[in-house]
Amino acid sequence: MSPLCLVILALFTVVPGLLLIMVIHRNRTQEALRESQEKLVRAQYIARLGDFSWDLDSDQVTWSDGMYHLLKYDRNEPIDYRRVNRDIHHPDDLDRVTRWLQESIASGETTAPPNEYRLVCKDGEALQVRVNLNIERRAGKVVKVFGTCLDITEQKQIQTALLKQGEDLRRSNAELEQFAYVVSHDLRQPLRMVNSYVQLLERRLAEQLDDESREMMGFVTEGATRMDQMLRSLLEYSRVGRMGEPMAPLDSRDAVEEALLFLEPAIREAQATVRLEGDWPIIVASRDEFTRLFQNLIGNAIKYHAPGRLPEITVSVAPDAAGWRFCVADNGIGIDPAQFTRLFQIFQRLHARDQYDGIGIGLAVSRKIVERHGGRIWVESAGEDQGSRFCFVLNADEFARTAGESDE
Ligand code: ADP
Repeated sequence: MSPLCLVILALFTVVPGLLLIMVIHRNRTQEALRESQEKLVRAQYIARLGDFSWDLDSDQVTWSDGMYHLLKYDRNEPIDYRRVNRDIHHPDDLDRVTRWLQESIASGETTAPPNEYRLVCKDGEALQVRVNLNIERRAGKVVKVFGTCLDITEQKQIQTALLKQGEDLRRSNAELEQFAYVVSHDLRQPLRMVNSYVQLLERRLAEQLDDESREMMGFVTEGATRMDQMLRSLLEYSRVGRMGEPMAPLDSRDAVEEALLFLEPAIREAQATVRLEGDWPIIVASRDEFTRLFQNLIGNAIKYHAPGRLPEITVSVAPDAAGWRFCVADNGIGIDPAQFTRLFQIFQRLHARDQYDGIGIGLAVSRKIVERHGGRIWVESAGEDQGSRFCFVLNADEFARTAGESDE
């Protein structure tokens, strides 16, 4: 066979083989492409996501399958920009969306700040979506806008419900505080009357009363006095955050020193030693409330000192991961750890009044003051007769926030 014949024979056998390989390869590529498109469509369905492009010359809008699915439109329905504005952008959001698009196009940027608005589905249901844009420019002119559109309706509903719950809670809290204030304020008046008439009766009938009746009168007076103390305590509790000085920059050491000045007689009487430790920061706080807080904690450290042991108290401050940690530590009677959570509740006491005088409001007031300043308060003690340490942390971010509020 001549070499020419051999070449022709080779061409006739090799070329079809090559063609067959190319066809198989192309089919496999198409198959892989189809599979990956199917995966993309499924992913968009699951994520409740769609994407679109808008050709500015033709005004033609192209939607992904995910977009058609999201808005419940038939896959073959033609969409253009006018139809999007007429039927799909929610009428109440249309102006805002149009302005955002115009500003994004005019900005010269290739992306736009994400936006959230409502779209109307084919069946009339409104969806809340978050849209991100990418703007394609050619020679300075915008030719296409690409966007992704994520359905955040459920997220928004949860957010709205949470906001409403928070609002309801704030309102009912304010109403309760107002109620506590009015009740404790108004009840004191008739109580004062009971008290003074009992005293009057006691004086008038002094000669005629036997010992038992006198003791009974004593119980009535004592009960009325105690009730008045409790009402005053409630009044003090409900005043926190309502009647105090406004939030303002405050040298925390000044507040402690002012508290120590108020406590001077008690300190002298108990022969207590009070040490201040740390670099006292400037914070943003209500001056009288912050002073009251230290007065309560240091006052307790003096009051609950162990019999036969002179009170030694350390008031300290140290930086904390969140902001500042303030502590009042004593060498007093200590606290059973099982009782820690009870202490900060209103009228909760661990000791009878004949052991240690008090009403059980000081720590509840302290907690309210700390929480109002965005902080957290707790107690540490190894147990009875082991001393105690009351600490609170004030958050540095909270300082910035409240400082902002006080600047307004
Ligand atoms: P009160 O001192 O009027 O009872 P508080 O609310 O200030 O009210 O304190 C609640 C209870 O916590 C006290 O009755 C006492 O039992 C306990 N407590 C408070 N501070 C100390 C302390 N430094 N050491 C031991 N116990 C304390």
